[in-house]
Amino acid sequence: MLELNNISHVYANGTRALDGVSLSIPKGMYGLLGPNGAGKSTLMRTIATLQTPTEGTISFGDIDVIAQPERLRRTLGYLPQDFGVYPRVSAYDMLDHMAVLKGVASAADRKATVETLLNQTNLWSVRKKAIAGFSGGMRQRFGIAQALIGNPELIIVDEPTAGLDPEERNRFLNLLAEIGENVVIILSTHIVEDVADLCPRMAILAGGRIQREGAPHDLIAQT
Ligand code: ADP
Ligand code: ADP
Repeated sequence: MLELNNISHVYANGTRALDGVSLSIPKGMYGLLGPNGAGKSTLMRTIATLQTPTEGTISFGDIDVIAQPERLRRTLGYLPQDFGVYPRVSAYDMLDHMAVLKGVASAADRKATVETLLNQTNLWSVRKKAIAGFSGGMRQRFGIAQALIGNPELIIVDEPTAGLDPEERNRFLNLLAEIGENVVIILSTHIVEDVADLCPRMAILAGGRIQREGAPHDLIAQT
């Protein structure tokens, strides 16, 4: 369970991007829906420990996220909105390299990890190709493969379907749903359909505040 307690963030220029956000996020897929400028990326970066909120506390299990960011990072997978420059190395080599950085020490463990992730994200057949040549959908699936190294228990995915065609989008969301049964996955999006079918619970963020929280079908019926 991820608990956000009264999180506010004011940027140096005075913009109040988050204003008293409190949420309890259980295991499974959780949707964070809101228009551009709502504060979604600020909230995702805050949970991912890349920003410290001006106010508030966050806990994940027994981890005090703001006081112990390094503990959270060990169990975090984060796919940011503007994910990466896509290098000319192959998908296989890049995942292998990331696994080294995440502390998967033995070559045999890395091989098993990388092969499992390439299969899970349906990238096995293109494992030797440069990521630079991947389509949008392939890049996002590769981003999820990267985020999954080390078996994280908290996965944050910021606006992952932007720019994907409908088929790639469905494929990507179904992949998240398969992963999401035993971990917390937070999916931020401005597209209602991304959360409506797949997320048992969701919150609507606007102007830095939680407007509503609950099951998608109840919330969407009200609007
Ligand atoms: P801070 O206000 O927290 O000191 P900066 O103003 O230095 O941060 O900006 C940090 C990053 O955020 C930069 O890459 C900048 O381009 C980007 N940025 C600045 N203002 C905005 C904005 N209004 N919306 C989105 N990104 C912004
Ligand atoms: P979303 O992801 O929902 O589009 P953001 O978290 O990017 O929302 O932005 C929330 C608000 O904070 C917006 O008004 C945006 O312009 C502003 N903002 C984002 N980053 C910065 C920054 N680095 N400095 C100042 N303002 C920012």
